[in-house]
Amino acid sequence: METAGGKRVPVDGDTEIRGVLRDKRVIGSDFEVMGNMEPNGTFQALAVYENPLFVYKGGQRLYVTYWCDVCAIRTRTPGVCWCCQEETELDLRDRKD
Ligand SMILES: [Zn+2]
Repeated sequence: METAGGKRVPVDGDTEIRGVLRDKRVIGSDFEVMGNMEPNGTFQALAVYENPLFVYKGGQRLYVTYWCDVCAIRTRTPGVCWCCQEETELDLRDRKD
């Protein structure tokens, strides 16, 4: 991941965070991760339940969430819905839930 200063920094986090960091719909967008720089040079994201992931779009800072239209279930990581097993949609929101 590239910082605002143009520096490339490896980013890591829990399983859900890693899922988002691999999501092609998120990669390449103006992206913010809240977390801490580790002594080994890796940026460690906060836990997913602390909502550390944002995408900037149209001047807005949006929470990264995923949505199942069928079940009206919201998750924090890409993949299939745990209920109906349909693929969830990326849903950027201006509030957490
Ligand atoms: Zn579902």
